Amino acid sequence: MPEKKHFETDAIRTQTPASAEREHSVPLYMTSSFTFESAEHARAMFANEIEGNVYSRYSNPNTDEFISKMCRMEGAESGVATASGMAGVFGCLAGLLNQGDHILASRSLFGSSHQILSQILPRWGISFTYADTGNPDSWESLIQPNTKLLFLETPSNPGLDLIDLEWAGNLSKAHNLIFVVDNCFATPYLQRPIEFGADLVQHSATKFIDGQGRAIGGVIVGSEQFMEKIRFFTRHTGPALSPFNAWLFSKSLETLPVRMERHCDNAEAVANFLGEHPNVQMVKYPFHKDHHQLELAKKQMKRGGGVVCFEIRGGLDKATSFIDNIRLLSRSANLGDTRTIVTHPATTTHSKLSEEERESVGIRPGLIRIAAGLEHHEDIIADIDQALG
Ligand SMILES: *Cc1c(COP(=O)(O)O)cnc(C)c1O
Repeated sequence: MPEKKHFETDAIRTQTPASAEREHSVPLYMTSSFTFESAEHARAMFANEIEGNVYSRYSNPNTDEFISKMCRMEGAESGVATASGMAGVFGCLAGLLNQGDHILASRSLFGSSHQILSQILPRWGISFTYADTGNPDSWESLIQPNTKLLFLETPSNPGLDLIDLEWAGNLSKAHNLIFVVDNCFATPYLQRPIEFGADLVQHSATKFIDGQGRAIGGVIVGSEQFMEKIRFFTRHTGPALSPFNAWLFSKSLETLPVRMERHCDNAEAVANFLGEHPNVQMVKYPFHKDHHQLELAKKQMKRGGGVVCFEIRGGLDKATSFIDNIRLLSRSANLGDTRTIVTHPATTTHSKLSEEERESVGIRPGLIRIAAGLEHHEDIIADIDQALG
């Protein structure tokens, strides 16, 4: 691995060495398996005496390049790429935990992560407790003798509340917990949890890493000590990322820094516009002047990210007509795309939660999430303006 350069340079120059063709851009290695030079070579590969590719469920040059790049960006030792972000979340938890173990998690988690904790892992005797994002003082008392892992997202989805990563890192260290952060909203360009004590960082590559709404994938990076177990689990259970998607994501990472700057510019402009609008009750954006954790945002994030949420005056009725009145922007449940997306969390992404659960993470009927894309900010704002009425 060449010496570490600036983030932008690593995003472009971390690549698989060229083949005999001397190609400039790394090609797609669309192959299920690899061949051996001799019987001895095959034996040595299977005995782990030499490194190399055997089978694309285990490793592939495109997947390896994508993982290496993510490791450099996050400052991690090693990683595993998965077929989706959720395969990564499940692979991490199932690979590391045993029957009887307990997870402490922040309450505002991605919907499917909530289902894994509450509906799937309990079937194998792995329990969980939610801690309130807004009340960090209560967390320590929720740690049990069998608590093995702390799992959180910051900024949270869709509420955009922050958790102090340094504080959470210290808490994990004091109680010997494996500290896992879903860093999907910030990306390593804006926030590097390992610098604050995280052991593992999880991503849905589907979002800002691809950034163009084309493919599903995930990646988890962190310390080799834990990765070994996760890799064993994913190798044998099989949620491998396809070489094609890995190739796509690795190319996408080349432009992550410039894309994230524009996502942040646009999100900031949208947040500032919404903050002044009479039909808007509140706006939430990590770097907005009214965010209650602005200081913390500046401490652990480079900029505020691509997602803004706001509460429209008039509750569900007004939220529904806002969504219906949108003309240019996309009505979708995704985020991290070139195209700006509007979502009504209470009736879509978070509809499986009870009303009480939604209320406890700030998802009220009037809440709308805007995932700012890369269009011109004046066109994005004009559409939001006309839809607000
Ligand atoms: C989308 C998302 C996931 C799940 O990723 P998939 O690629 O859809 O499986 C997990 N966490 C967060 C924060 C997400 O936004």
